[in-house]
Amino acid sequence: MKKIVVIICLLPVFVQAQWKKQITTLDSVLQYLYERQQFNGSILIAENGKVIYHKQFGIADTAKHALTPSSSFNLASVSKQFFTMMAMMLYEEGKLDYDKPVQYYLQNFPYNNITVRQLMNHTSGLPEYFDLASKHMTLIDTLDNAAALNMFEQYKPALVFKPGERFEYCNTNYTTLASIIAKQSGKACEIFFNERIAKPLGLKNTYIYHLKLKSYPSSRVFGFHYENNQPVPDDLVAFDGIVGDGNVYSSAADLYKWDQALYTEKLVKQSTLREAFKVGKLNNGDSTDYGFGWMIMGDTIAHSGGWAGFRTYIERIPRQKKTMITLTNGANGLAIRIIKKILSGQSYQLPQTEIITNVNLIDGTGSVVRHGNLRIVDNCIYDLGDKLQPFPGETVTNGEGQVLSPGFIDNHSHLAGSLEEKPGAIAAVSQGITTIISGQDGGSEMIDTLTAFFKKQPVAVNVATYTGFGTLREKLMKAQTNRPATAEELKMMKEILTNEIKKGSLGLSTGLEYEQEFYAPKAEVIEMAKAASAAGGRYISHIRSEDIQIENAVEEIIEIGREAKIPVQISHIKIAMRGKWGKSVDILSRLEQARVEGINITADCYPYTMWSSTPRVLFPKKDFDSRTSAEFAVTQLIDPSGSVITHFPADTAMEGKTLDAIGLMKQETAAEALLRIIRTAREKNAGAAIVGVSMSETDIKNFLRWNYTNICSDGGDGGHPRGYGAFTRILGKYVREEKIMPLETAIFKMTSLAAEQTGILNRGILQRHYFADLVLFNPQTVKDNSTISDSHAVSSGISKVWVNGKVVYVNGKTTNTFPGKLLKKTEIN
Ligand SMILES: [Zn+2]
Repeated sequence: MKKIVVIICLLPVFVQAQWKKQITTLDSVLQYLYERQQFNGSILIAENGKVIYHKQFGIADTAKHALTPSSSFNLASVSKQFFTMMAMMLYEEGKLDYDKPVQYYLQNFPYNNITVRQLMNHTSGLPEYFDLASKHMTLIDTLDNAAALNMFEQYKPALVFKPGERFEYCNTNYTTLASIIAKQSGKACEIFFNERIAKPLGLKNTYIYHLKLKSYPSSRVFGFHYENNQPVPDDLVAFDGIVGDGNVYSSAADLYKWDQALYTEKLVKQSTLREAFKVGKLNNGDSTDYGFGWMIMGDTIAHSGGWAGFRTYIERIPRQKKTMITLTNGANGLAIRIIKKILSGQSYQLPQTEIITNVNLIDGTGSVVRHGNLRIVDNCIYDLGDKLQPFPGETVTNGEGQVLSPGFIDNHSHLAGSLEEKPGAIAAVSQGITTIISGQDGGSEMIDTLTAFFKKQPVAVNVATYTGFGTLREKLMKAQTNRPATAEELKMMKEILTNEIKKGSLGLSTGLEYEQEFYAPKAEVIEMAKAASAAGGRYISHIRSEDIQIENAVEEIIEIGREAKIPVQISHIKIAMRGKWGKSVDILSRLEQARVEGINITADCYPYTMWSSTPRVLFPKKDFDSRTSAEFAVTQLIDPSGSVITHFPADTAMEGKTLDAIGLMKQETAAEALLRIIRTAREKNAGAAIVGVSMSETDIKNFLRWNYTNICSDGGDGGHPRGYGAFTRILGKYVREEKIMPLETAIFKMTSLAAEQTGILNRGILQRHYFADLVLFNPQTVKDNSTISDSHAVSSGISKVWVNGKVVYVNGKTTNTFPGKLLKKTEIN
């Protein structure tokens, strides 16, 4: 079913000055918009009974017939005023009383306390018919008024509020009104309309569209939008058998006649008409901004409409005898917003467009590469394909045959902490990442903190976050996280979590291997996950063990998914223990089995045989002074000859050295060096980080190839080379050199799969209306360059990166542009 747009928020055009003065500006702006496919339609402006501007721009249909002054557009919700006019006519004939219950006229109407006036004022509390129809209609049904009424009779959905309690725009009010009009006039609405309004006013191009219409008048305009520079139909939908809420067709010239007739008594008496322009009243005596089919804002009365392909607007200022009518069929409401601003003397911004030509488009869905161009308008992808040509004066980026793909979404990132110092986010954008998902491994910032940060310091990348279990435990349990939470603590943690998800957090993240969370029993985690699930969030976890207990840890996350009925993701999936190398096959088949059971379990993975963390994770039993455990760590968990201490403020001379090298320096074994580092860090209350060489290439490749694994970096700004190189390493080493998967699949795992497995909307695919987060790269040269000893080296082959339509990175350098947004789950990002 196509998207239905109902525009009810109106900006009144309050203006004292004459509109005449704005016409020159308006004309050149409309020409600019038209040349950029941002305006296609008809506009008429009149003042003091004289038309001062009336012009058509563009085409009437996909066969590209030009619009003419008689072109007749689908008015969408601007139609409503005609139905209230018919109601007023019946009122004058004594056939309709506004204050009678609807049931008086429609005996089977299932609500006994709604009046006709409440329908016209949108204060009835009726629910939207499209919602009901979407639930109960099949794809091939076309709904008409009788069927809509039957549906309400049959299902009797609950009212949204008590009639008269508030104003809420709802199309069902007007479809019901139309049924009353037909009943009371004894005629189909379209006939009554034609006899009593269209004919008497001489409206030659105005009619109610209905299913029995045998053919369209030649003046009929069709909705469309551009795809690959070609107009494609964007017109009638299955609900178009219904009249009342929409479905009147008219031209700007006819609407002007209609507007002028409203100053006379050609249709109804002025005293009757005054009722239409009076605001509605609620039960408590408050006024609304809506009359009978008109928005009323002081001196200005107006209505807008939106339907598949069409955006329409009429505005009248009767006291100044001003009228503005704009009817568009190009599925774009931008021009109407700009016209209103120009006429009211407000500042306005013209859309900026950029075309990226000669690129191999890899769209992020896994579809095969195709050659073409892509156009950005402001912050969104506007169009793509092989038929796009530059508009006059447009910014052109020649892609020179490189690949253009959606910007990469890194759904396990630790970069957020360095954004204050480096808002250009070079670690991310230099490898093509345009969105980072923060709050991982159980550690996070609150949404309010992030919101405040973004206000103070805009950044180059988009950021979304999970809410960390460890952070919540530390908040409530202070230093006592080495025990289960009490019932009271758990209750409070659930409340905070729920509230954070409502504010925009993606869900709950845990780092059960870490000490703040390790002592939380499974039942406690499940309780938290249930709260996340109830709030519509997801669950992502650095599981309880990646080595000796990995199988149990996998069982635990599966159980969490099952019990809490929540999507669960294993963070940076890996096998960090020599004795279990090769078990990736078993683990993946267990995950597949869980999916068959109905658990939405997924994973992310970074492409290195080494991890980075605190050296304490090398003691799975948390016995940090045990020689036996230290021996086990350096023989079974990591290779001490390659594992490097990357951060050790207590003794910076150790930084950059392997455990073996440190042992040699201090004349101790690698195990002793490890014990000493942990002890010193504890005594000096300082941190420590180690890059542990620990995984097998075979397991990494198996995990990367799994259908439900997306790519992550798990990186920050330096330390482990993944912070600057994870995504480009996939593209260079694993795709180009080792060919473990096609390039299109790798991009899918970096973009739309990551978006889907995170709950990020409108990003991750090259598609019209998606945000223009883009990366242009050379698939022949792209590669990671960062290493442990040079962990800030930027990648090769990433030519240009856009975030929300703005260029943030060009050939090795950030641009000091900060268009990143804080992405909140609750919003359509
Ligand atoms: Zn982690």
